[in-house]
Amino acid sequence: MARSIIWFRRDLRLDANPALAAAAADGHVVPLFVVDPAFERAGAPRRAFMADALRSLDESIDGALVFRHGDPAVEVPRLAAEVDADVVFAAEDFGPYGKRRDALVADRLVADGRTLRLVGSPYVVAPGGVRKDDGTPYAVFTPFFRRWQTVPADRLPAVPDVRWFGAPAVRCDGPPARPEPGCETPEASELAAHRMLDDFVASGRLDRYGEDRDTPSIPGSSRLSPYLRWGILHPGQLLDALGGSDAHQTFRSELCWRDFYADVLAEQPETAWHNLQRKMDSMVVDTDRRAHARFAEWAAGTTGYPLVDAGMRQLSATGWMHNRVRMIVASFLVKDLHLPWQWGARHFMDHLLDGDLASNSHGWQWAAGTGTDAAPYFRIFNPTTQSERFDSDGDYIRRWVPELAEVSAKEIHAPSTSKRGIPLGYVPPIVDHAEERAEALRRLAMV
Ligand code: FAD
Repeated sequence: MARSIIWFRRDLRLDANPALAAAAADGHVVPLFVVDPAFERAGAPRRAFMADALRSLDESIDGALVFRHGDPAVEVPRLAAEVDADVVFAAEDFGPYGKRRDALVADRLVADGRTLRLVGSPYVVAPGGVRKDDGTPYAVFTPFFRRWQTVPADRLPAVPDVRWFGAPAVRCDGPPARPEPGCETPEASELAAHRMLDDFVASGRLDRYGEDRDTPSIPGSSRLSPYLRWGILHPGQLLDALGGSDAHQTFRSELCWRDFYADVLAEQPETAWHNLQRKMDSMVVDTDRRAHARFAEWAAGTTGYPLVDAGMRQLSATGWMHNRVRMIVASFLVKDLHLPWQWGARHFMDHLLDGDLASNSHGWQWAAGTGTDAAPYFRIFNPTTQSERFDSDGDYIRRWVPELAEVSAKEIHAPSTSKRGIPLGYVPPIVDHAEERAEALRRLAMV
């Protein structure tokens, strides 16, 4: 019987996996994961979560997963030759590194008379699938979303019974080392992901998503981002749970943001680390010693702005941060501290379990006003009024900044202005928001 390889990358699931379904239809399937030295660049929390997801995937196929360590351009063709597989199946990767890697692997396989067949993607609609009438890409989200809803979603076929041919018959180098993540990590398995999704729907949180998603003290969002990042769940599986209510439509639009940013990055790979709006390159940013010191205070959650500090500490402790707070801490880094958005983006990639180049870099560019939607003036968040609005009772701050646990809801948003003074152990604001806002506007006016 014919043999093919399923090469898992960021699609670590057995259910609704188009590449696996295609491989299974082709005969025996050799399950492969290549531990690429390039992973070393990823943060420890993300690598630990990946290691857990791989262990779970391996267990669900009775230990058949074949791990090979090394350069995929060497390891994939080598295994294909060893097991005599004509075709290597994988989900298409649209990131800059993934595309380069796959082009190399495909060339090497072709040289051996074999094929890399890319089936499915980590997106509802793969990058390139949502285009204007004249075939050009969208630069703005709202029209992209309108068109996205009319384009048929990529198919997620049921996976038939798979006839695995893997470890121990095939040599396995063993799973990747699990680094010490330095934070809590949720269970990384398909079962856990489906339990979380089912609970999000059954508890009514999805129905309340429109009102609750901006309140960081409550579990108003799904918290499924790490599972989507690693393809433990496919976004199409989330779409299946949605109806037509406003709350469901808002949730649908968030999934579309993910597709939109992937599309923008696939079209303009340099925007991973460079301004999408090149005119913003002339914006003056600070990179001197004082800038480094301020960055360290931002990262440690000791800026003296309670909501910013709560967010940064939630990130360190859990590898996740609420979306509203991500926007606030990002705005603070760029507009109040005048630091390059890339510094914040790199820190996020080092700490987030869901760290994803497209969503992260473009989330940062959105906050910096350098990305797809430039409205920099309106996007200087006031960290104190944002706190009063979105954490009005102060519960989120108290959860993550224990020095402020005894401060009243009225005073917790700006403890430095309290008559009783700053509570012991907490810090005064490192900058004055009004002054830095004026400075940000001055710098923007020079662009
Ligand atoms: P939910 O509200 O339940 O949304 C469901 C899913 O939709 C999410 O899991 C995510 O996959 C997607 N989604 C939601 N909002 C966005 C958005 N604004 N952009 C893109 N996709 C979205 N998301 C990442 O997955 N990885 C990142 O590295 C990342 N970095 C970010 C950096 C900044 C500065 C900002 C402002 C946002 C970033 N986001 C990132 C987007 C968003 O904050 C997270 O996706 C969201 O907080 C994850 O929580 P959730 O699963 O509960 O989201």
